[in-house]
Amino acid sequence: MSGLVSGLDGNCVRCGRKLKDIKSIERGFGKTCYKKYLKETEERMKKNQISVFDLRGLKNDR
Ligand SMILES: [Zn+2]
Repeated sequence: MSGLVSGLDGNCVRCGRKLKDIKSIERGFGKTCYKKYLKETEERMKKNQISVFDLRGLKNDR
C-alpha cells in the first residue's frame, strides 16, 4: 500500500490488474476495462436486463 489514494486499493475491479495511472485508480477500472464496462452497461440497459431494483439503486430521479 502506497497510501497515495485512500479507500482504493489501486486494482482494476474488473480484471484485478494493478492500475498505474491516477485516473484509472479513481475509476477503479483500467482504460480498456472501463470502456468494456460502459459498453456492457449500455447493452444491458438496451436489452432491459437490468431489473427495477438495480435502477432504483443507480437513479434517484423519483
Ligand atoms: Zn481491468
